[in-house]
Amino acid sequence: MAHDSDILDGLREALTVSPDNIPLRRQLATLLLNQGHVDEAEQELLRGLRMAPESEQLKVALGECYLRQGKPADALDIIQPLAQRPGCAAATLLLLAKLLLRLQRQPEAIKAYQQAKARDAKLHDDQLDALLHRSDRGAPAPEPGGGHAPKWSDDDDDLFGEDDDDIPFGGDEHVRISDISGHATSGGAASGGDVEKPKINFNDVGGMSAIKQQIDVKIIQPLKHPEIYEAYGKKIGGGILLYGPPGCGKTHLARATAGQVDAAFINVALHDVLSSYLGESERRLNALFEQARRHTPAVLFFDEVDALAASRSDLRESWSRRIINKFLEELDGVTSTNEGVLILAATNAPWHLDSAFRRPGRFDRILFVPPPDEPAREAILRILLKGKPLDEVDFGKLAAKAAKFSGADLKAAVDLAVESKLEEAIKSGRPSPLHTRDLLAAVKQVRPSTVEWFATARNYALYANEAGLYDDVLSHLKLK
Ligand code: ADP
Repeated sequence: MAHDSDILDGLREALTVSPDNIPLRRQLATLLLNQGHVDEAEQELLRGLRMAPESEQLKVALGECYLRQGKPADALDIIQPLAQRPGCAAATLLLLAKLLLRLQRQPEAIKAYQQAKARDAKLHDDQLDALLHRSDRGAPAPEPGGGHAPKWSDDDDDLFGEDDDDIPFGGDEHVRISDISGHATSGGAASGGDVEKPKINFNDVGGMSAIKQQIDVKIIQPLKHPEIYEAYGKKIGGGILLYGPPGCGKTHLARATAGQVDAAFINVALHDVLSSYLGESERRLNALFEQARRHTPAVLFFDEVDALAASRSDLRESWSRRIINKFLEELDGVTSTNEGVLILAATNAPWHLDSAFRRPGRFDRILFVPPPDEPAREAILRILLKGKPLDEVDFGKLAAKAAKFSGADLKAAVDLAVESKLEEAIKSGRPSPLHTRDLLAAVKQVRPSTVEWFATARNYALYANEAGLYDDVLSHLKLK
């Protein structure tokens, strides 16, 4: 394998040939940062930002740089405005949380960390977890000077019923079995690949009955009764592609699908797999499929599958072609059988996906996962509030007031309400149950994050609706 210094040289050289390739410059900066060349990374990022002043990823990387350089306040100036945008990335919120923690603004750090985790349950930071855990237990974070904070009595530990077994979803809902072999590469753990055994099933997913049914017919039943499908000459295989606005439960549903059939679940952020170098991405793709084949029955879930398409324009043509072919080869089970492996993928940007993915036997079922309608929002709220102390909550009213909310937005609102109750309880020393008004106040604080997505989707649905691909989006928007 190439040395890091060779890779750095290769990237620098590639940049002299195509200096305006932003993803390449970001990769160079990330690698420099990982290797401790912080100042040089900063220069590259600033250069990149001159060309792409709106790039969230470049700004987040620059924020990381400033944090490493001991300039958290400067970083905060960049990150805070980004974090206020409705559809901002989970990584942005995570960095915001780290910065706030460094600046000793613990309550805000907790809030940002919870929001980051609401967007991406896989995110994790040891220090923030410790802080969150302490605040869950009711003990305020330690004072910077090492001062001791008052502590909850033991009885209060279960104030909101969040002992580990009780959490219906979020980061703790699964049991980790093992780590993927050979996965520790430049992308680190961020690309996922851990084998989980989810404890949730379809009952933990509010709404989506039609989609659940499609998943049942297309992949669950063939897994359970392969002989019947064979008898009718029906070929088993292929995957389901879920698309729709962020935070509407695509990952949650995929995880619940695994739980529904007691299968293993492997969650892969494809973007991170692809951000490794040359042959490394292909090797990692193969390792992920092999991992699933070793743990059958397994649900192999590829998030951000549009990253494959993006890679084509961003990176050298031959390289990205090789990656796409490798992915399709694994999907087709050319070299090894995918029996017992259910393949699900998700994207917020299906329009970037190569039509080769939609051929029979590949992602030949493409399902729109819309924002939850009012009854679904009510169901999601019930799921989210299960096991928490409640005082006559009017779920119908809440669901009505949360129009256009995604599941993740609803979760953010519930988290905010719980948090305000905790603060109140810390002040008064007495826990009190959640009331409709607490939740309504929280709902008012959260802006629905699905609106922006539809502004883009609408154009594709109206003007690039090849083979009726986006008919469901049109129906949702009442344009059909
Ligand atoms: P996506 O993959 O579509 O971006 P996620 O599955 O990550 O969205 O959803 C974020 C969080 O929102 C989930 O972890 C879950 O807590 C909550 N959520 C979203 N949709 C639902 C739903 N239909 N039922 C229950 N919870 C949901």
